[in-house]
Amino acid sequence: MKILHIMSIILLLSACNQPVTKSGEAPRPQKKADYAIVIHGGAGTITRANMTPQLDSTYRATMNAVLDQAEKLLHQGSDALDVAESCIIMMEDSPLFNAGKGAVLTHEAKHELDASVMHGASLNAGAVSGVSTVKNPISAARAVLEKSEHVMLSGDGADQFAHSLGLTQVENAYFTTERRKKSLESALRNEQGTGMTSEDEWIDYKFGTVGAVVLDKSGDIVAATSTGGMTNKKYGRIGDSPIIGSGTYADNRSCGVSCTGHGEYFIRLSVAHAVSQAMKHGDLSLEEAADLVIHTELQDLGGTGGLIALDSYGNVAMPFNTEGMYRAYLKPGERVVKIYKGE
Ligand code: ASP
Repeated sequence: MKILHIMSIILLLSACNQPVTKSGEAPRPQKKADYAIVIHGGAGTITRANMTPQLDSTYRATMNAVLDQAEKLLHQGSDALDVAESCIIMMEDSPLFNAGKGAVLTHEAKHELDASVMHGASLNAGAVSGVSTVKNPISAARAVLEKSEHVMLSGDGADQFAHSLGLTQVENAYFTTERRKKSLESALRNEQGTGMTSEDEWIDYKFGTVGAVVLDKSGDIVAATSTGGMTNKKYGRIGDSPIIGSGTYADNRSCGVSCTGHGEYFIRLSVAHAVSQAMKHGDLSLEEAADLVIHTELQDLGGTGGLIALDSYGNVAMPFNTEGMYRAYLKPGERVVKIYKGE
């Protein structure tokens, strides 16, 4: 009798300790995914109207290839840091995205690349900003995390650090593509207000930043982001992507987040950290926290973009307030690949 009484007190207490959602209801019991990955390839003016069917299927095939690789690695028990880095490298090496090869051009027609990575178990992080010769900036960011006592290195020093560790170096021109040359020409015409073409209307000057958030079999979450920044950027401008807390954040106790969009707004709102804090201290679910930050805070400030996020159960959120966002996720038995709003 006494044992039964103690049992019912324990049950009552644990019911009281159940997290409560914003709506005030106790959440349904959650099933934990063995592993999960969510990726993005940038948010912006991405509509069916300004996309050819071939380009549409090339983007989907590339995102599927990234998920295939992640699935293979996660299934065999690779850790989240290895999986996040290898997925970002695939997207940096693809000319489709604004990261690594295919990165946007600065005002001086050069490439200055930013990347960051964070580990949710230790809260260790590494980032590089304004690098111009390391072939895969995400590997340089990982090297800062693992092989330096710092969190962020910038410019030539960051390239030298990567070089000293044997990371592949390339000529800056390696990153250039015809598409990004056209974007810069268009941005310059826009800036000068002369000789605008009909194409200039829908050329987006930044979309294509890449990101990955991974949950591995041991329950660790890693978030990573890589970008060329914004077309026609000047004076060594740095966006949110290499800033821990703005473009990237990971904490096993809440979630991992990678952002994309107009970086200045994401910096001002510390978007990635804000999502984690809303979960940890506001008792919001992943989806509620991510929606609040993108659809209320970012929206109210007038910023555009989106984020991908994943929690320790493998729940995924991918909110954005632009026309589209290249996005995809995978967990055992589930695969989603999307581009446009409302898809
Ligand atoms: N957030 C990046 C930046 O502002 C650009 C992007 O995500 O499209 O540098």
